[in-house]
Amino acid sequence: MTAVGTPVAVVTGASSGIGAATARQLAGAGYHVFLTARREDRIAALAAELTAAGHQATARALDVTDRAAVDAFASGLDRCDVLVNNAGGALGADPVATGDPADWRRMFEVNVIGTLHTTQALLPALTAGDGGTVVVLTSTAGHATYEGGAGYVAAKHAERVLAETLRLEIVGTPVRVIEIAPGMVKTEEFATTRFRGDTEKAAKIYAGVAEPLTADDVADTITWAVTRPPHVNVDLLVVRPRAQASNTKVHRTP
Ligand code: NDP
Repeated sequence: MTAVGTPVAVVTGASSGIGAATARQLAGAGYHVFLTARREDRIAALAAELTAAGHQATARALDVTDRAAVDAFASGLDRCDVLVNNAGGALGADPVATGDPADWRRMFEVNVIGTLHTTQALLPALTAGDGGTVVVLTSTAGHATYEGGAGYVAAKHAERVLAETLRLEIVGTPVRVIEIAPGMVKTEEFATTRFRGDTEKAAKIYAGVAEPLTADDVADTITWAVTRPPHVNVDLLVVRPRAQASNTKVHRTP
């Protein structure tokens, strides 16, 4: 149960990385945070930690690709002021010629259809209040391609277009649509998941990069954008580490 007057923020993929950091920061900013992800133990532990620190936090196991589960989750909320569509990620780094269609399908399912599911399910609640906010966590991969990235790049481009189109369609309602597009972020699982547990390959992504972004850096940009006055819509915020000039131009020291 959310205390009367406390705004509610739903964060998908809150069990690790950027989602967990965002849940922490939004809880600190005064939101009752609903942490969702498939791994219930991890979100329950984070919710307990936040609650012990005096914040309002609730964990709900949720697979964003499961529409019925998303609808059931949404119908159990008293209100929703902020939705952070963060659940997502990459699978594989194969060229188009040999990429596995199953990986492409999975990336579309989580990054695009997952975001569609949660946004559709929560839009009525976001619209019902004084001012709702939909955050879509895309990537610089949603804006430019790179070799070996086509499946993820295509999914993130689609997710970006979902955000842009939604903003056009709901103008005039009290809901803003914010796209956050990070470049290289060193989180504990993103690259390892991409390379299916191959930690050596994963480490090469960040090799020689002095300071990749951290999950906290991205959570900070999300929290900043969300906490602007309701009439201020940060359409798109691209954030990269200083060492990364583009998806393909990264300064590395040997
Ligand atoms: P992580 O791998 O640490 O986090 C991904 C999160 O998504 C996990 O909490 C995972 O939780 C959740 N997730 C995956 N599949 C599902 C699903 N079907 N249903 C619900 N939750 C799911 O990665 P990051 O924190 O680095 O990335 C978070 C977001 O930021 C992603 O959308 C990613 O594409 C994007 N991004 C990341 C960048 C980076 O360099 N790291 C750069 C730019 C954007 P669980 O497994 O428990 O379900």
